[in-house]
Amino acid sequence: MEPKTQKEVTGGLFLISETNPEHVFTPEDFNEEQLMMKEAVIEFVDREVWPNKERFEKKDYALTEALMKKAGELGFLSIPVPENYGGMGMGFVSTMLVCDFISGATGSLSTAFGAHTGIGILPILLYGTEAQKQAYLPKLASGEWFGSYCLTEPGAGSDANSGKTKAVLSNDGTHYELTGQKMWISNAGFASLFIVFARIENDKNITGFIVTKEDNNGIELGEEEHKLGIHASSTRQVFFNKTKVPVENMLGQRNGGFKIAMRANTINKLAKPALEIHIFCPVSS
Ligand SMILES: Cc1cc2nc3c(=O)[nH]c(=O)nc-3n(C[C@H](O)[C@H](O)[C@H](O)COP(=O)(O)OP(=O)(O)OC[C@H]3O[C@@H](n4cnc5c(N)ncnc54)[C@H](O)[C@@H]3O)c2cc1C
Repeated sequence: MEPKTQKEVTGGLFLISETNPEHVFTPEDFNEEQLMMKEAVIEFVDREVWPNKERFEKKDYALTEALMKKAGELGFLSIPVPENYGGMGMGFVSTMLVCDFISGATGSLSTAFGAHTGIGILPILLYGTEAQKQAYLPKLASGEWFGSYCLTEPGAGSDANSGKTKAVLSNDGTHYELTGQKMWISNAGFASLFIVFARIENDKNITGFIVTKEDNNGIELGEEEHKLGIHASSTRQVFFNKTKVPVENMLGQRNGGFKIAMRANTINKLAKPALEIHIFCPVSS
């Protein structure tokens, strides 16, 4: 059987088809920058995370937040964010290395990390306007702010486009008012920014909005959920009651939120260059 070309071998196909060994990426292929990042994240996890395993099991949400801050200071929250938005501007391999080692220690930090760097940051990185990127990415990249993603509702989980949260345009056309209930929202307890999906009028699809947490703007949080695991990951309901959102904080196009929601949940765009080669990397212990 003819080996497939590099471009044809995607996803897990390398497991079941003959491939050219030159197209297989192994840890020996890490460059100096990637190895430095690997060493830095291993040191962080060994020093800050492993010794605190018990505290994560005891719902120490403050510890999760504190370690997210430290991760931000060390640049781990901003690996794929371009440098002009305050990020490290590094590629998918470095992103994967950091995720690998952070995820290997505790699910609580891993969930907080994933919610912030993935579904918190990616919607803005992939779909934000230049002004939105300039305004929010540097704060999120540094860990000054944490992000969370509000899609799920009591009646809209797997069927995510059926959410009932409404966005109503104000009479003067300057802002939308968001009203609705979101649930299972990771990082809600300490987030400063919410990516919120809501429906405008009777649109077929939901629309994305960037909502910053401000006092007296109709945002309320439920109690922390008691989960079977990932105990120190903050998971709460978020209620919006006529929360004012400037029109310029619409994310992407009206009616385009479902696409953003689904795309941000994968790491499609950022991962693509690296997925065209295969990464074999030992999972951290
Ligand atoms: C710890 C945790 C953190 C989370 N963090 C976030 C977050 O940060 N932001 C956010 O927006 N959401 C978050 N969620 C919500 C999560 O995305 C939803 O739980 C998920 O989308 C499933 O929705 P649901 O729980 O309503 O289950 P349901 O949609 O009710 O599904 C229940 C079961 O039915 C199955 N099912 C559903 N529809 C069908 C069908 N048509 N055919 C066959 N089987 C079906 C499902 O596979 C599942 O097994 C989080 C959830 C958890 C548990």
